[in-house]
Amino acid sequence: MVVILKPNADKEQVENLKQWLQSLGIETHMSVGMTHTIIGLIGDTSNVDMDLIQSLDIVENVQRIQEPFKNANRKFHQDDTIVDVAGVKIGGGNFQIIAGPCSVETEEQICYVAECVKKSGAGLLRGGAFKPRTSPYSFQGLKAEGIQLLLEAKRNTGLPIVSEIMNISHLPLFEDVDVIQVGARNMQNFDLLKELGMTRKPILLKRGLANTLQELLMSAEYIMAGGNENVILCERGIRTFETYTRNTLDLSAVPVLRRLTHLPIVVDPSHATGYSYLVKPMALAATVAGADGIMVEVHNDPAHALCDGPQSLTPEAFDQLAKGVFAVRPFACR
Ligand code: PEP
Ligand code: MN
Repeated sequence: MVVILKPNADKEQVENLKQWLQSLGIETHMSVGMTHTIIGLIGDTSNVDMDLIQSLDIVENVQRIQEPFKNANRKFHQDDTIVDVAGVKIGGGNFQIIAGPCSVETEEQICYVAECVKKSGAGLLRGGAFKPRTSPYSFQGLKAEGIQLLLEAKRNTGLPIVSEIMNISHLPLFEDVDVIQVGARNMQNFDLLKELGMTRKPILLKRGLANTLQELLMSAEYIMAGGNENVILCERGIRTFETYTRNTLDLSAVPVLRRLTHLPIVVDPSHATGYSYLVKPMALAATVAGADGIMVEVHNDPAHALCDGPQSLTPEAFDQLAKGVFAVRPFACR
């Protein structure tokens, strides 16, 4: 971090700033120019409050040289992290398709969809039991029963399961859930992230509706700071002014995150676009952009789905998507 001082900054205040930084264990290096003096901060600046320094009278500007995330940072961990989900690996050249309905609805539905997506090559089964719906009058999920039905589909197919947690008090229900999803709406629920950091479960962390990639990585940092390194990042589209799509898929997130972090990166083209006709093209694009996996919503009867029907693929359409994704995988950027 560097602090650029205003011309003619008060010497006593500069000295106070240096002493305060030293009290935080940070060394300072002064570089005096014709008009400006720059203080270089040497040491771990991850918990230095940049805004506080910026607000001082003597300070013109503050710039970070190093990112504020440490555990997730590729600079300190060159090799890709491989998350092992009950033997199914993701990251470091291991690619997975996660597929299943938005919500678990019935035993027949989840078990049928699970068989279908497995046949098409999905490595993990998804299904929401606790649903974060915009309206309190919409279907809220089958909750504990939904988890039980997912576990039945897991027993039948052997596919590890992914399901979203909304409240940490539900954690005991997730004991046999292989990957706990933190949805976009909870990406900055810091208490939830801290608690998940105390577990050793793989966590699928989705990017918030209006969050930057740095904020996504800081949320990953919350989980990792607790000792849980099993974090998978998920780009699921962000909110923009465009209305033809539900969200705008930020595909450049894949190579940007690849550069910044060693964590696996998954793309969700279903929530990113909102319409089934857009899911395959965006799944192919995400694969070629170098994602470590994609997550796709699949429903046996999308027209009657209790949640996210318009973006859900039939098992047949998903089979076509999976064939396409496996075909373009050799062309993926790394
Ligand atoms: C979901 O995966 O079903 C979901 C609710 O996603 P998001 O949090 O990205 O909206
Ligand atoms: Mn959904």
